Amino acid sequence: MKNGRICPKCGSNDIIEIPGGYEGGANWLPAGLGTVPIDRFVCCSCGYSEEWIRADKLEKVKRYWTE
Ligand SMILES: [Zn+2]
Repeated sequence: MKNGRICPKCGSNDIIEIPGGYEGGANWLPAGLGTVPIDRFVCCSCGYSEEWIRADKLEKVKRYWTE
């Protein structure tokens, strides 16, 4: 869905990206000092949504949630 922009549920390509961390948004993941933005992809055909943590934040999330 992130790559290719095709919905895995209904096959539509009507996908929008909602970047994580915008002002007023709730799409943050707690990760110790500070939070990590969650980027979300939403299918405007069926409503399915997918969430992605940015690659450069994965180490931070892993450290926080495994200790
Ligand atoms: Zn869909």
